[in-house]
Amino acid sequence: MNKFEQLGLNESLLLAIKDLGFESPSEVQEKAIPLLLEKDTDIVALAQTGTGKTAAFGFPLIQKIDAENRDTQALILSPTRELCLQITNEIKLYSKYIKGLNTVAIYGGASITEQANQIRRGAQIIVATPGRMQDMINRNMVNIKNINYCVLDEADEMLNMGFYEDITAILSDTPKDKSTWLFSATMPQEVARIAKDFMRKPLEITVGHKNSGNENVSHEFYLVSARDRYAALKRLADANPDIFSVVFCRTKRDTQAVAEKLIEDGYSAAALHGDLSQSQRDGVMKSFRGRQIQMLVATDVAARGIDVDDITHVINYQLPDEVETYTHRSGRTGRAGKSGTSLVIITKSELRKISAIERIIKMKFEEKPIPSGMEICQ
Ligand code: ADP
Ligand code: MG
Repeated sequence: MNKFEQLGLNESLLLAIKDLGFESPSEVQEKAIPLLLEKDTDIVALAQTGTGKTAAFGFPLIQKIDAENRDTQALILSPTRELCLQITNEIKLYSKYIKGLNTVAIYGGASITEQANQIRRGAQIIVATPGRMQDMINRNMVNIKNINYCVLDEADEMLNMGFYEDITAILSDTPKDKSTWLFSATMPQEVARIAKDFMRKPLEITVGHKNSGNENVSHEFYLVSARDRYAALKRLADANPDIFSVVFCRTKRDTQAVAEKLIEDGYSAAALHGDLSQSQRDGVMKSFRGRQIQMLVATDVAARGIDVDDITHVINYQLPDEVETYTHRSGRTGRAGKSGTSLVIITKSELRKISAIERIIKMKFEEKPIPSGMEICQ
């Protein structure tokens, strides 16, 4: 008997898990799955990025859904369109042996009428971004008054993105006696507030240290003067010809500008940010996943939660305002037990941010000279 069987999952799920090639459950799965299968409880599960949270809620959710009843029974809220599609695809893979179970993705930038039609045809599970969900509730295109389960995935990030009001409005539209499952990498105050105000004595599962970093990721910083930031990025790319990286910038404008410069200078790069159309974003993600692009230059919002395997370097072209965001960025690499590097290109005046991050991730940064010792590292 493998370890997934011991968790109490049924035959259809075990078959799907076999197809996925998952050999044994991750820690968060081992803790959450039996608990969620056994009773209808609220939970708060904290585990860093890349630890398999989607299956930790996806497996028990699918087992609890009545596939013969076509009503909407579960709502999964997730911060971005990309993530929404990713979760939907995962849930579909997990439930492929269950006849009649339909999962529909609801997100902005695509036809609302088409999404409403899909729901009308019967969707036991809806995976939605808070903005579009609220929009559909207002237009009476969806009914979540009888759902049994509500999952808040990447709750910290949804709240970071300013979805507090949408989320609370949506939760108010759901029945009181449902179960709420909150999954998050970190536990900032707003997440604690949602747990307190909208959940019933949630059980808490924590994997690893709260807010801590991933042991597989090494953290390095490169000290440069502000005007040499871009040159430093190029040197880093030159020194790592096989780089497969997400380069984080703070604004959409910088993201676009850095990507354009890289392309002009002959690097394999593309921009991902909220000013692109949905089909442009899908196209960029497809090329990145397919490795036609080596450097994805992105804003935090656009890159959030995206699960792309084998990213070698996360590059903080600019540090984020919030220290918590650094944890999310560096979580893009070092996934599924592989090693990765999280680099920060930093100026002298920002140096104190490094020690603030070190305290949160409970790991030390190593200061590195810019490769090839050019005049830019003064
Ligand atoms: P998180 O939501 O915690 O960031 P994901 O659910 O996106 O993590 O999972 C990260 C990756 O690990 C995915 O590619 C997923 O398919 C894979 N994965 C999840 N659970 C297992 C498992 N038990 N065994 C092997 N791979 C897994
Ligand atoms: Mg996730």
